[in-house]
Amino acid sequence: MKNLARTLDSLDFLKLDRRTFMKAVGALGATAFLGTYKTDIVNALELAETKLVWLHGSECTGCSESLLNGGNPDIAQALTKLKVNLAFHETICAQQGIWNDGKLVNTSELNSEILLEDLYKEGNYILVVEGSIPNGPQGSGKYLMIGNKTFKESLGEAAKNAAAIVAVGACACWGGITNAASDVEKDTDYRGVAYKKTDASKGMLKELGIDKPVINIPGCPAHPDWILLTLGAVILGKIKIPDDLGDVLDEYGRPKVFFPPDHTVHENCPRRGYYDRGEFDEQVGDQHCLWKLGCKAPYAHADCGIRRWNGSVSMCTQAGGPCINCVDPGFPDSSRPLYVEAEDEGIAGTNIDTVAKVAVGAAAVAAGVHAVRRMKGE
Ligand code: SF4
Ligand code: SF4
Repeated sequence: MKNLARTLDSLDFLKLDRRTFMKAVGALGATAFLGTYKTDIVNALELAETKLVWLHGSECTGCSESLLNGGNPDIAQALTKLKVNLAFHETICAQQGIWNDGKLVNTSELNSEILLEDLYKEGNYILVVEGSIPNGPQGSGKYLMIGNKTFKESLGEAAKNAAAIVAVGACACWGGITNAASDVEKDTDYRGVAYKKTDASKGMLKELGIDKPVINIPGCPAHPDWILLTLGAVILGKIKIPDDLGDVLDEYGRPKVFFPPDHTVHENCPRRGYYDRGEFDEQVGDQHCLWKLGCKAPYAHADCGIRRWNGSVSMCTQAGGPCINCVDPGFPDSSRPLYVEAEDEGIAGTNIDTVAKVAVGAAAVAAGVHAVRRMKGE
């Protein structure tokens, strides 16, 4: 990665084609990427000011938290460098909905409904959606009202004139935790922007009759780099919408550079050596492979093992938590039961307990991983 970073450093940013640009985005973290190309980015965007409208549906605000705690650059620095006008973001907007002498103030500075109406009329903004959209009860969307509107209605208004739509986090991508199987699932009927679980015919935009492409940045929460660098690539015109999306995104609308179809978290896990030697933790808090504690990393297509989290300091498995494959379409149902070993077939068809007692060669392990994937239909 260091070599690639050095090579990229010597290239003219403005002349990078999309493929090289996406390699740079994948290889460098947000800090290194923005640091390396800061001057070029500022020059490229001198005349541009991109507006961002960030809507919150049903969610925990964890993805905004993830972005706000993203470290260096923080969101304010990144937005300044990218010359982005964060025109609306409920969590960090100045106070809205001000009443004066018993009347709601009618200016866009103090009334977010007017602000949003103005932004939608002007158009040409990037719409970021965090959180799922309830369709219930009975298709009304009334399980989430903001002011006098359902969130379903608000999403429809926002999506119509958006230049690009990005769904951030598992909830916005496929419904996420809000849409997990439960007794009330049918009534609440939570949807992602473009998918309900793995079903693209039930995404909320389709329900609303809006035919627009959506970039999905899953995760629970999404990694700040995944969010910032995708937005950066769109803002800088390095991902042209819709022309480039077929090449850049996988079948579930995820940028392949962060969610590689041919790479899993398991491959770069810091505990991988223990897996290869068949040394598995039987209880939490130990130091070996977490497979028997339900680690789903062999099925998780993401770059967490390379990129790491919290300023590249650690990641789930490094910190002792089995990966729950939070990036999978259909999460969390697709990862259930959490913290339970996925199967006892183990490596290369051998029971995992047997494997733990014998030293296995790397080739056998690799074959085993592929076998496990095949069993999972990947
Ligand atoms: S199964 Fe999980 S803990 Fe074990 S090596 Fe793979 S990713 Fe790491
Ligand atoms: S390691 Fe697994 S659970 Fe953790 S963020 Fe990555 S994909 Fe999600």
